[in-house]
Amino acid sequence: MLYYKSAEEIELIRTSCILVSRTLAHVASILKPGVSGIEIDFAAEEFIKDHKALPGFKGYRGFPSTLCVSLNEGVVHGIPTNREFVDGDIVSIDCGAYLHEYYGDSAFTFAIGDVDEISMNLLHVTNTSLYKGIENVKKGNRIGDIGYAIQSYVEGEHGYGIVRELVGHGIGRNLHEKPDVPNYGNRGKGIVMKEGLVIAIEPMVNLGTKEVMQSSDGWTIVSRDGKPSAHYEHTVAVTKNGADILSDHSFINDAIKNNVNIKDISIKK
Ligand code: MG
Ligand code: MG
Repeated sequence: MLYYKSAEEIELIRTSCILVSRTLAHVASILKPGVSGIEIDFAAEEFIKDHKALPGFKGYRGFPSTLCVSLNEGVVHGIPTNREFVDGDIVSIDCGAYLHEYYGDSAFTFAIGDVDEISMNLLHVTNTSLYKGIENVKKGNRIGDIGYAIQSYVEGEHGYGIVRELVGHGIGRNLHEKPDVPNYGNRGKGIVMKEGLVIAIEPMVNLGTKEVMQSSDGWTIVSRDGKPSAHYEHTVAVTKNGADILSDHSFINDAIKNNVNIKDISIKK
């Protein structure tokens, strides 16, 4: 079942997505070596509740936290722990919020302190690939066009590994709706995008092998070879004018510019 959203519903999803974006920016303002995943998770939950919304992930299929915090070889679904961030970490933070009966979803991978050039390049390429995918969001295009664009850039041009087991998704009254939005695939395949479709696009890119496994905590997905992994996500609506990006990473990039403990990875356009 595919749900197409009205203009009013898209605005409600945007409101949730902007709250998620501001929550991630709030997290970005306090990230530094010595801070733990549990501390930022607490800060994010307070921030969301202060804005009269609910964390979108907490309790979802039993997930215990507001944020997914996936460090270094962590791909996604990391549970925040007491482990303190250290200089050189890359940390993927995924956040959802539920407000006025609609979900918002967005993710960003941060570079803490002196991250090496190899990991910085992984972050740049993954972040850029998200926009390569979004360029293909328009009515009449197919879902496969998005994955094809991401895969061509990430694997074809850069030789990194795209995770296959986890994909983007429709979003609205439910956190995860049809259709699946793979980060790989063939042009011209998959469903045709129509006005009102709202999807979360979220490339997960490994420095080495594309293979992943679940860690012993039962949640965290990690790269099988233990090499770093990155993840960026936007919620995007298909409108008559093309893609409307409902989440907004400019809040996050502004927070990063004001935090000397995090490296700037905004895309230079
Ligand atoms: Mg997400
Ligand atoms: Mg998502």
